[in-house]
Amino acid sequence: MKRVIQYILIVILFSVWGIILTNKESFRESFQSVKRQYIDRPCSEPVQYALGEVDPRFGVSREDLLKYAEEAEYVWEKDFGKNLFKYNPGAEFKINLVFDERQLGTIEADKLEGELGKLEASHNAISKQYDSLSGAYKKRANDYEKDVADYKKELDEYNDDVEYWNKKGGAPEDEYDKLKKKKKELDEEYKNLEKERKALNDLVEKTNNLATKEQQIVNNYNNNLNSYENKFGETREFEKGVFDGLSINIYQFKEAADLRLTLVHEMGHALGMGHAENPESIMYYLMGDQEMENPALTKEDVDALNKICNL
Ligand SMILES: [Zn+2]
Repeated sequence: MKRVIQYILIVILFSVWGIILTNKESFRESFQSVKRQYIDRPCSEPVQYALGEVDPRFGVSREDLLKYAEEAEYVWEKDFGKNLFKYNPGAEFKINLVFDERQLGTIEADKLEGELGKLEASHNAISKQYDSLSGAYKKRANDYEKDVADYKKELDEYNDDVEYWNKKGGAPEDEYDKLKKKKKELDEEYKNLEKERKALNDLVEKTNNLATKEQQIVNNYNNNLNSYENKFGETREFEKGVFDGLSINIYQFKEAADLRLTLVHEMGHALGMGHAENPESIMYYLMGDQEMENPALTKEDVDALNKICNL
């Protein structure tokens, strides 16, 4: 009985061990086949890649991702004059878009940038309005001052005339009528001046309101800018993408050019390239000084590639 149990135990142990070994072996084998294919001979045979997981929250279709991958491929191939990569839907090596807090942050940054853009536009519109309003005010206020001075002069003349005739004990009828007519004109002028004074006050109030609104927008803009810089001010590292030997995982990008440049960089790693010293190099560890719209290899990138390819 004891023997039988021992035997069974040994059989179980061996089969478990067997499973572990096989798994380990097949993992090592598949890793080595990738390694062989991508790193040992990257230049004699093209690296075959497929698209893996493409999270829809990135807003990039599989077709577009493939297009960007092919463009990234071309950056490596155009000076090399040979196929270094090849799309093959059945390939083991995958390009994935993996969504996590990194891209969430990018989306938030995008939103804040949009907010800043809108604030800037409305600030521009309001300051234009303010300029034209305060320009109109200055001209009208100037005219008003002149009209007030004229009115005062005429009023003084009228008062002098009245005083003169009062001293004489009264004006003759025609002078009296003239003074009466003048008084009516002056009253009318006074009413108009009062109307203009009120209109000018309204204009001042409107202009001041605009200035307050403008200041609010400036404050709002500065607050938004502060929180933007606190959150997203640092340089963009290439850790937004990772090549792990079996796949390229992309975690973060802002726009197509950003995604493409990240792909070019990670595909460089897939060819077996390390990081470069020149900040303009595709293989520099930070993104920022490379040509975004038309990424191109620097001499350092080309030399490193030739070294890998034993050229
Ligand atoms: Zn890198």
